[in-house]
Amino acid sequence: MNFPVQTDQFVDNQKLASKTWEQCLSIIKDQVSTLSFKTWFLPVIPVSINGNELTVQVPSQFFYDWLEEHYNTLLHNTIAAVVGENSRLFYIVTSEENLPPNQESTDNDFISTGTELVRTQPFTPHVSLRTENLQSIKSNFNPRYTFENFIKGDCNQLARAAALAVANNPGGTSFNPLVLYGGTGLGKTHLMHALGNHAAANGKAKRIAYLSSEKFTVDFVEAIQGDKVQEFSSFYRSMDLLVVDDIQFFAGKEKTQDNFFHTFNALYQHGKQIVLSSDVPPKELRGLDERLISRFQCGLTADIQPPDLETRIAILQKKSEENSLELPSDVLEFIAVNVKNNIRELEGCLISLFARASLENREIGVDLAKDVLRVIVNDLRTPISIDQIQKVVCSYFDIPVDLLRAKTRRHEVVIARQTAMFLAKDLTNSSLKTIGLHFGGRDHSTVIHACQAIEEFQKTDNNFKQQVDQIRRKIELNE
Ligand code: ADP
Ligand code: MG
Repeated sequence: MNFPVQTDQFVDNQKLASKTWEQCLSIIKDQVSTLSFKTWFLPVIPVSINGNELTVQVPSQFFYDWLEEHYNTLLHNTIAAVVGENSRLFYIVTSEENLPPNQESTDNDFISTGTELVRTQPFTPHVSLRTENLQSIKSNFNPRYTFENFIKGDCNQLARAAALAVANNPGGTSFNPLVLYGGTGLGKTHLMHALGNHAAANGKAKRIAYLSSEKFTVDFVEAIQGDKVQEFSSFYRSMDLLVVDDIQFFAGKEKTQDNFFHTFNALYQHGKQIVLSSDVPPKELRGLDERLISRFQCGLTADIQPPDLETRIAILQKKSEENSLELPSDVLEFIAVNVKNNIRELEGCLISLFARASLENREIGVDLAKDVLRVIVNDLRTPISIDQIQKVVCSYFDIPVDLLRAKTRRHEVVIARQTAMFLAKDLTNSSLKTIGLHFGGRDHSTVIHACQAIEEFQKTDNNFKQQVDQIRRKIELNE
């Protein structure tokens, strides 16, 4: 049975792994561009080293796939140079939520991919359940998730404030249990790790553990099979702070729920802190025992909502700063406007953006961001309509929209009309005929002529080109 704790030995091993990885980085740095280095190698976290096997953690499956596809040989040769021949590299993909629960680390956990091996499950160090280990429990929280790098917004204000209060005084506030709920990718897990890291750092809780409800379930089943239920129960009931993520996965698992109910009560009665997260408010949890649900509601339930535009911009800024990457403000705004519901997707966009810039040798601009978003975000904003284009163009040139459809050939109207036709062709999938129909029934040759005229005009007059770019941006940002 592997429990989510860290030992001092584990920390030493981590240091050794860090040193090894630093040596690798110093070699890799000279072999790839600065951008690729920052995008693909700096975010890798060394986790452990075991003989000639180095284990590193990467932020997403996408990230892993990229490394495998593009840097396999480089990594292989580098590790061989630093660690020695026959070295092996293991990956842990961290941010994949709702993965199957951890199991014993057997070779079955690894998917073999050529020379490398990947393990797509969160890492949990192996620690046997002996008393001396229980003395030296440290947290298994991810150090990357802190309050400092958690952006505050109206959407998460209560949850963040409550988590901080609990971290400063675990078991000592009325927020017990603290239940955080909200949709996927909105920061529940981040906040729970921040809470755990903070409580571990200020020493207010000595024995703390973080795990998902799935892991609790799997460990419990193993405990039953290994006749170790007593040990299992006393382990979790000895915590000062118990953090259980995604409790919705307790649904339908009656025996586990029963054990968790008693664990909960034991901790609660002794003034120990419990922190839980769920994708819905506790009272809407289906398949959970009523008595558990009522326990969950006796502290504070705090929601996390999707972030508003300002918060999304702030998060993107923070994430690019963290990775020492520079993002032009129009690109930042473009991503923030279009990726609305999920912060994990915001991060995914950033990674892809820099990856594509570096691999396709393209400038980081709105054009590239558009390509990236098309792949990542399924519901990339409702398509741009010709009406919308007409509205923006007319407001820019300050003329009434009906004049675009009228017969007038006044110079400023002709310019606006042709610009709108040009952008309609550029930004929508409409046929020339459809575009013509939106401009007072003009035929398709008029539209072709307009597009050619605007293209020419932009080539000869840079000022005009900038105006067209500005209008295009306004349309894309739906301003
Ligand atoms: P959840 O557990 O709610 O599904 P996570 O906590 O895993 O979501 O968050 C997904 C990603 O978004 C993580 O990488 C996390 O760091 C990031 N994230 C979420 N909220 C914020 C925030 N307010 N500030 C900075 N990063 C955030
Ligand atoms: Mg989560």
